[in-house]
Amino acid sequence: MRVSKRVQQIPASPTLAIDAKAKALIAQGVDVVSFGTGEPDFVTPKPICDAVVRAMEAGQTKYTAVGGTAELKAAIRGYYEPRLGFAYSDAEIIASCGGKHSLYNLFLALLDPGDEVILPAPFWVSYPVQIEMAGGLPVIVHGRPEDDFVPSIEALDAVVTERTRAIIINNPSNPTGAFWDTDQLRPIAAWLERHPNIVVISDAIYEALVFDGLAYTELLTLAPSLRDRYVLVSGSSKSFAMTGWRLGYTLAPRELVAAMTNLQSQSTSNPSSIVQAGAAEGLRQGDTLIAPMRARFAERRDLALSLLQEIPGVVVPRPRGAFYLFPDFSAYLGRSYDGFEVKTDVDLASYLLERARVAVVPGTPFGAPGFLRLSYATSEERITTGIRRIAAALQAP
Ligand code: PMP
Ligand code: GLU
Repeated sequence: MRVSKRVQQIPASPTLAIDAKAKALIAQGVDVVSFGTGEPDFVTPKPICDAVVRAMEAGQTKYTAVGGTAELKAAIRGYYEPRLGFAYSDAEIIASCGGKHSLYNLFLALLDPGDEVILPAPFWVSYPVQIEMAGGLPVIVHGRPEDDFVPSIEALDAVVTERTRAIIINNPSNPTGAFWDTDQLRPIAAWLERHPNIVVISDAIYEALVFDGLAYTELLTLAPSLRDRYVLVSGSSKSFAMTGWRLGYTLAPRELVAAMTNLQSQSTSNPSSIVQAGAAEGLRQGDTLIAPMRARFAERRDLALSLLQEIPGVVVPRPRGAFYLFPDFSAYLGRSYDGFEVKTDVDLASYLLERARVAVVPGTPFGAPGFLRLSYATSEERITTGIRRIAAALQAP
């Protein structure tokens, strides 16, 4: 059957593909350690599940307003107002079926064919594909690992054109776990103030997962004049361990929210009614629910980091957020292991899955060849077993 030209070029999400492969092996009884997909291993906190059950029992099982219930929008407003110092109105908020869906709606509502979107690398795999599906052009800008991959002002100047429509800031970052603090954000905020036509897309989905006692700062608070071209995307998946429930949201100028809401009214309609009730409860309880998970993630980061640092030649920065490590494995490329040819990071990930039974995501689809991404959102025992397996597999003759 012939499929449209539009979808012929779309690759499957590599993060989800690795997860599917690992799950298939596990289903066959193979003991795979999965550092593949980025999702918390914790169960959704009980107060959220209880709120979903209550909503179900109260008959909140019908269509809701397309962009979300008044209850959810109030909870989103309440969560962000202290962080931002001002309140978004209902007309400036839209809830969607996951952050991925929020971003997809956003690109469709924002981009015209040929519009360029600046994408700091390494970047989450779905950004370039979604931008292209909306007719836009991703324009990659590289930062250095020793600078937490923050792009320099010179690098930004070098890629900006009259077609630049937007820039994506994903802080903390998937795949690197890098957290950009206020000092690192300030020059970018000042640069954006000098470029009045650029829309700022802040993907803050890991905003609550920042370690070492550091505080997340929304770039908008450093440059409040950006508000009429600032788009904040986030969701419940990572902060509240709600990946399967599918709830994301966007705070943005009302014209954009209205366009996204019209688009959503013709595609998915509202996100699940009962999930909205759960997400609202999560946002109201906020850090009370998140803090215990954040503490566990920080301990696991330390464990995974120390084990990886023991592998000679692997260069791994200390990430301050999210739940990813992004080591440079290029010292291990360009040779064969036990007859398995490993030229690239993609080969290395295949080798590790097939021979060491460890699922990791290669750096190439994140715009960073030579690197591997490890999601350490798994138990301490699995982290130790998995990284020891990697170390052993790299010793193979
Ligand atoms: N943005 C980033 C950077 C992510 O890592 C993810 C997780 N896949 C998302 C958005 C979307 O997550 P979800 O659709 O589960 O809300
Ligand atoms: N964000 C996660 C990841 O990068 C979930 C999978 C996906 O949606 O890409 O692994």
